Formats: sequence, C-alpha cells, structure tokens
Amino acid sequence: MRALEISNQDLSRLADEAMDLARTYWASLDDRPAYPSTSGKETTELFSRPWAEEGRGRDVLKDFELIAARARPSAGRFFAYVFGSGEPVGALGELLASVLNQNVASWRSAPAATSIEHAVVGWLAQAVGCAGFTGSLCGGGSAANLMALAMAREAKLPANETGVRGGVIYASEQVHMSIPKAVALIGIGRANLRLIPVDDQFRMRPDALQVAIAADRAAGRNPIAIVATVGTIVSGAIDPLPEIADIAGREGLWLHVDGAYGVLAALALPQQLNSLALADSLSLDAHKWLYQPLDCGCLLHRHPDIARKTFSHSDDYVGLLSQDPTEGFAFFEESFELSRRFRALKLWLSLQYHGRRAFRDAIAEDLRHARLLAEAVEAHPELELLAPVPLSAVCFRHRAKDNRAILRRVNARGRVYLSNATVRDQFALRACFVNHRTTDGNVLEIVSEVIAAAGEVND
Ligand SMILES: *Cc1c(COP(=O)(O)O)cnc(C)c1O
Repeated sequence: MRALEISNQDLSRLADEAMDLARTYWASLDDRPAYPSTSGKETTELFSRPWAEEGRGRDVLKDFELIAARARPSAGRFFAYVFGSGEPVGALGELLASVLNQNVASWRSAPAATSIEHAVVGWLAQAVGCAGFTGSLCGGGSAANLMALAMAREAKLPANETGVRGGVIYASEQVHMSIPKAVALIGIGRANLRLIPVDDQFRMRPDALQVAIAADRAAGRNPIAIVATVGTIVSGAIDPLPEIADIAGREGLWLHVDGAYGVLAALALPQQLNSLALADSLSLDAHKWLYQPLDCGCLLHRHPDIARKTFSHSDDYVGLLSQDPTEGFAFFEESFELSRRFRALKLWLSLQYHGRRAFRDAIAEDLRHARLLAEAVEAHPELELLAPVPLSAVCFRHRAKDNRAILRRVNARGRVYLSNATVRDQFALRACFVNHRTTDGNVLEIVSEVIAAAGEVND
C-alpha cells in the first residue's frame, strides 16, 4: 500500500465508528453538564503527547470521548456569550464539504461550490431585507468587520498604494471589540475610533454622533465611516439605523452594520429590522443565530467595485481564462482569503433541509425565551433586570448578594452556564438565547439556579 492509503474496508469501518460517536454525542447533549469539569492541568496532561512514529489506526477515535467530556457542549442549558447550537445537518454538511475538499477561491477552482456560495449569500441577504447585496462567507463576524472597514477605508481614503494618512471612524461605546481591532489592523489607529455615547436603551445617540463628526471636521480631520450595531453584545441593543444612515448620507460616510449577533433576528422580526438595506456593508454570523457549526460568518455589501478595488491584486488573471463573468469570478478578488473552505455547503444542506419557516420559528422561540427570563426576573423579589431586552440577551442581577460569587457558584453547580457583563458600571449576570435546543424548563432553571446559588453565597 502507498503511504496514507486506507483500504475501502478500513475506511468504511472508521466512518461508521465516527458516525456512531457523532450520533451518541448528539443524543447525550441533554445529560451532560452545562460546562465540563476539568482543569488546564488535566487537559494539558491528557493531550500533550508526542506524535508517534507508528500510526494508531482506529484507536484514535477512542480519544473522542476524552475530548467530548472536556468540551463545552452545545446543550440547551449553555447561555454564555453568543454561542450557537451547532445544528447537526450543518455538521454533516461540514463533513461532506471536507470530503469534496474544494478550494472555493474562484469558479475555475470550484465551479459548483462557487455558485452555491453565491446562492446562499443571496438567501442570507434576502432573509435580512438586503436583496441585491453581494458578498461572501468568512470565518466570522471579526473577519467580516475587518473586510468591511478595509473597504470603507479604500472607498473614502484610498491607501492600498500609499499607506494610511488620517481617517476617523465612529461607533457606539457598546461596540464589539472586533471593531477597534479592525480599526487598528487597517491602519486607522484606535485613537481615531470615536466611541459615541448611548441612550437609556444602550443605542447610539445620533445627536452625539453628529456633534462628534462636526468636531472632527472642525479640527481638520477626515471622517470616513460609521459602524452601527444591530444587537450589541451586552444587551442586544439596536442602534437607530434610519437616523444614522441619514447622517452617513449627509456626511458622505460609509455605513457598516455590525450585525454579527443580531441581524438574523430579521427573519422573525422583519418589521423592527426593516432598514438594514440602508447599510453599505453588513456582517452577520450564521454560526450564531442561524445555529450553524463554527465557523460561518458572512459579509454582505452593495459595492462589488469597491470590494475589487480593496482586495484585488491579481491583474485579473482568472479573467484571462474565461470571458464568461460567472466563470471568470474569483472570491479572492473581492475578499481577503485565497484558499477558502466550502462553508456554503453546510448552509445549503441545513437551510434547505429544515426550510425557512423552521429557522424563523427557532429564532422566534429564542426571542420568547429571553422575554420569559426577563419576566421571571422581574417577578422575583430578589432579582433585578439591568437592561431592556430588545433581542435575546438578558442582563440581570441579584439585589442583595455578591453577583460575582453567584456567577461562580451557578457555573460550578453545572446545571446552567451564564456569563457576565458590565451594565452602567454594574456587574451583571447575562444569559443569551441562540440555541434551538433550549426549552422553557431550561430557561426557568436559570432563575432557580441563581436563587439556589445565592443561598450558598455569604452576604
Ligand atoms: C460575535 C460578534 C462579533 C465577532 O464575531 P466572530 O464570529 O466571533 O468573529 C462581532 N460583533 C458582534 C456584535 C458579535 O456579537
């Protein structure tokens, strides 16, 4: 046998065993603790081993349960961060995408996969009211935000050839950390990111935005872009897009919407989120509120010309191979990566397997779960809601006890897992709902676990 060759029989047994592991794992999710009990010492000891000279064969699959027992499960009782639930049809899509092993760099290198990616990007654009936008899939919201701001900079302050001189970007003080990171990476400098104050619902204040832009212009600086957030990471706040888009239009600024968490709620809330198409660019995360396995971000925009200006460095060499615009298309000329996975296949399979209504219903259910928790918190004399709940993130606290200690106790008890946030300088317990496995009972368990943990914490 040649090196690395596997007989059909061995491959078939390996595949069966791997699928059995997957099946058993999915069936066990509900019985697993919301967070594994392990330590850095334990995982290091278990998994730092030399790469052996001789192969272990099928034995390697024995490691799966070692790993699974120390992995954060995508169970319905995990409420920390914005952590999607890893829909199994999507996971099988990942497997099949790897089997095909396409490099979705261009139509020439991956004909079907390129057309499928265009199709699912079109579905996503349409689902959030941005029909006609173009774009591509990427690793996540951070990558999408970085590409969007690189495009904004190249549109308003061309610098690919000359390097960056000046430029100011605006976002609310609730902005996700991926935005300052992107502002730094594109050479604008974090000192030139203005963090605009928010109103009592944690939304960017357009009046303060206008004042900040005027102050920068008066000082001779060069405003280039505004980042509005649809679904802030702390409380799910939605910046007022029509007012912000007005300002962007008047001032000639690029409007990027960071919708990594919240934009897909448009499936269930089309009326509330009906102005997303005012954006020049918009990022969303299918691995969050579309329940897909990691990773699957998406950048949508309506400026393919600027995407090419920003990302094309190839002298159009695929264009030489075909006159046909579809066959001459290359993702690497309109986005950052060259070698790209076939991320679109999991969406293609999962979104069609379940159909649009099922995703709309799952998102509506998450929104209902957030309201259910908010109501239970408000009805409980010992608890207090700390922020409005426009989407599915709920920030609350115990009125009397040390909430840091409560959080540690809650998570150590293992039934539910929460994260924390800072709301107006207060330490908040935070639960976020982006999980199709969560039940009403799981939601109410948050309250009973917090109260039980509070009982275990000294005053
Ligand atoms: C999650 C998130 C991001 C970053 O997305 P990744 O997929 O984690 O890179 C950016 N902005 C917001 C609002 C987010 O919720």
